[in-house]
Amino acid sequence: MSAHPDVSAPPGGLLDLDDAALGELVGPPHYRVAQVKRWLYERAVASAHDMTDLPAELRTRLDRIGAAPLTEVARTSADDGATHKWLFESRGASFETVLIRYPDRATVCVSSQAGCAQACPFCATGQSGFERQLSAGEIVAQVLAAARELRAIDDGRSPTRVSNVVFMGMGEPLANYPAVVSAVAKLCGPVGLSARHVTVSTIGIPDRIRQMTTDMAPVTLAVSLHAPDDALRDRLVPPNRRWPIREVLAAVADHRAAGGRRVTFEYTLMDGVNDSTDQAHALAALLRPLRPVHVNAIPMNATADPAFRPSPAAACRSFVDTLVAGGVNATLRRNRGASIDAACGQLFAGRARLGLRRPDEESGAA
Ligand code: SAH
Repeated sequence: MSAHPDVSAPPGGLLDLDDAALGELVGPPHYRVAQVKRWLYERAVASAHDMTDLPAELRTRLDRIGAAPLTEVARTSADDGATHKWLFESRGASFETVLIRYPDRATVCVSSQAGCAQACPFCATGQSGFERQLSAGEIVAQVLAAARELRAIDDGRSPTRVSNVVFMGMGEPLANYPAVVSAVAKLCGPVGLSARHVTVSTIGIPDRIRQMTTDMAPVTLAVSLHAPDDALRDRLVPPNRRWPIREVLAAVADHRAAGGRRVTFEYTLMDGVNDSTDQAHALAALLRPLRPVHVNAIPMNATADPAFRPSPAAACRSFVDTLVAGGVNATLRRNRGASIDAACGQLFAGRARLGLRRPDEESGAA
C-alpha cells in the first residue's frame, strides 16, 4: 500500500493493467514492462519500492497505483498453521482468501466477488448477499498476498510457492466472467501456474461453461451439483430454476467435447437432505454417461441455519462407496479450516462472532 494512493487508479492497482497500459505508465526503455511484471507477478513484491533495479522516480509513480492493492482486515490460522485465512478490504468491499498448505502443494482459495447473488441456503456467503464484482487485479492480488505469506513461513512443511488456485471463495466466478478470464490469463501467464492446477468452481451457467474452452487456458471445471434431481437442486442451488440439471450437464458434455479437462462435480453432504443411498444411486446414474468424471463429496460445514447440518461420517462414507460401486469415481474430502470457518465464505458472515471489525466500525462494536 502506498501512503498516497491514486484514487483514480483501478481497484486492483497495477495488477489491473494490461501490457499496453503498463507500457504507457512506465515509459521507455522497452524492457521495463517485463521487468515490472516480474516484480509484480513472479516475485510478488508488496510495494514498488522493493523493485530495486528501477529508478526511484518510477518506483514512486508505480506505488501511487499500488502493487499490493488489498488491505488486510483480519487473519487467522488453523490446522496447526497449515491453513491461513484472510479478510481483505478493497474500496469498501470485503472478501476472504484462504491458503491451504499440504506437504506437496500449496492451494489458494480465492474470491471472485464480494458476496454472492446465488443465494444457496446452506452457504453463508449466499445468505449474506451480493456486494460487488472484484476486478481481475483484486483476484490476482489474493494469490500474490498468499504467495508472500508462503515465502515468509518457509517451515519445510509445504512448497514455498503457490501451486494451485481454486475459485471456491466468495462469489460465482462465471457471473464475473470477463474479470475471471483476465485473472486466469494472469495466473497461467506471468504468475506461472499450470492451467491444470487452476480450478474454476461454478453453480453451472451453461453458455459460460461452453465459452470457457475458447476464452481460458485449459483449467479444471468444477460444477456444484449437490443434488441428483431438479426438485431438490431448485432448493439447494436456486439458479437451477433457470438452468436445470440436464442443461448444465449438456454444457459439461460440450465443454469436454471441445477439449476441456475431466470435470469435477462438487457434492456437499447434508444430513437427511441429499445424503441417502437412493440419492447416491440416482447421482451415479445421472453422471455415468458423462464419464470420465470425478465427484468431490464434502461434508457440509455447519452455518447458522439449523435446517442444514453436516452428514454423519458413516453416511458420507457410504454415499461415496455407493457412487464408486455405481461406476462413478468419487472421493470424500476432509474439510480443512472448518474450525476457523475458512472453507466457504464463512469468515465474512462470522466476523462479529470472531470479534473482527472493519476499520470504519466503532471499536468495541463487535
Ligand atoms: N459459487 C461457486 C464457487 C464458490 S463456493 C460455486 O458454487 O461453485 C465453493 C463450493 O463450496 C461450492 O461447491 C459450494 O456449494 C460449497 N459450499 C458452500 N457452502 C458450503 C458449506 N456450508 N459447506 C460445504 N460446502 C459449501
